[in-house]
Amino acid sequence: MGMVEEVRIARRTGFCYGVREAIDKAKESAAAGIATHTLGQVVHNEGVIRQLETAGVRSVDSLDEVKHGSAVVIRAHGVRPEVFERAQNRGLDVIDGTCTWVIQEQRQLQDLVDEDYTIVILGTPKHPEVVGLLGFAPDAIVVDEEEDWERIPKRKRMALITQSTQPPWKFEKLAAFMVSRAHELKIVNTVCPVTIRRQEDTLETARDVDLMVVVGGRHSANTKELTRLCGIAGTAALQIENARDLVDPQAFDHVRVVGVTGGTSTPIEDLREVTQRIFEIAGTPEMRARAEELAAAALGAAATPAGRTTSLPRQPVLASAD
Ligand code: SF4
Repeated sequence: MGMVEEVRIARRTGFCYGVREAIDKAKESAAAGIATHTLGQVVHNEGVIRQLETAGVRSVDSLDEVKHGSAVVIRAHGVRPEVFERAQNRGLDVIDGTCTWVIQEQRQLQDLVDEDYTIVILGTPKHPEVVGLLGFAPDAIVVDEEEDWERIPKRKRMALITQSTQPPWKFEKLAAFMVSRAHELKIVNTVCPVTIRRQEDTLETARDVDLMVVVGGRHSANTKELTRLCGIAGTAALQIENARDLVDPQAFDHVRVVGVTGGTSTPIEDLREVTQRIFEIAGTPEMRARAEELAAAALGAAATPAGRTTSLPRQPVLASAD
């Protein structure tokens, strides 16, 4: 019999502002009657992709798939500068959904190139944000895990910058490592503050619960980092992609209070569904009967303006992702 009596959703969750605004720009364009596409999936989340398709927004892998005069939305991760040029040359209406934080990061990187530094980027080499950054600094050295770091050469003037969603501890560790690699070392800290706040709130929740459920893409670096932090707080964590992954009530054996958190590409609706599912499969009989109502209340207690799914007017804040 289930024992879960309470589920707490971490305070600031849901889409980060960069993802939210790119999605909103796409929806606004489609609502204005323009054939609208996103270059690549705006987030790897089935519910969101379905919702966008319903709104008339289609995801394409290449600009060649977009007809002259149609709109193409650049995702929050940004792209290489030549992608803008190609889209404009093809006569497309380019809607720039690059997150303002990423735009700033690209400018800072360009400055480092102009100042002739040997540049190291901390990031996942094939991540779209890093691919976009390399368009500004083709000679930059991209490193990720610690075993890569030995590849960093010794140079007189070096600079370090990071993909926005890398964990701050890793950035600091790499900065310390690079001190011995350069005579002059310039450090540009571009770890996104939203990511940091998400980690703080996850840790705060994890400290007070028996088990954490972390919701987000299997390969998402920021989601994996949240799972790792739960471990540091001494709380076991289940990492899942969505509510359908929760099938085994035994995962909640001896658990009374559960915490739920999500990555920056996870909509708050998914957290509500996961919360409801936890009550349904592992709640006490009383909680099972009220699963839907309790999930809405848990989200209501957590969702701050930063956790909302849309900035668009006339859109219900807690609209279903389906
Ligand atoms: S994680 Fe930060 S930098 Fe990346 S898209 Fe979201 S708000 Fe922008």
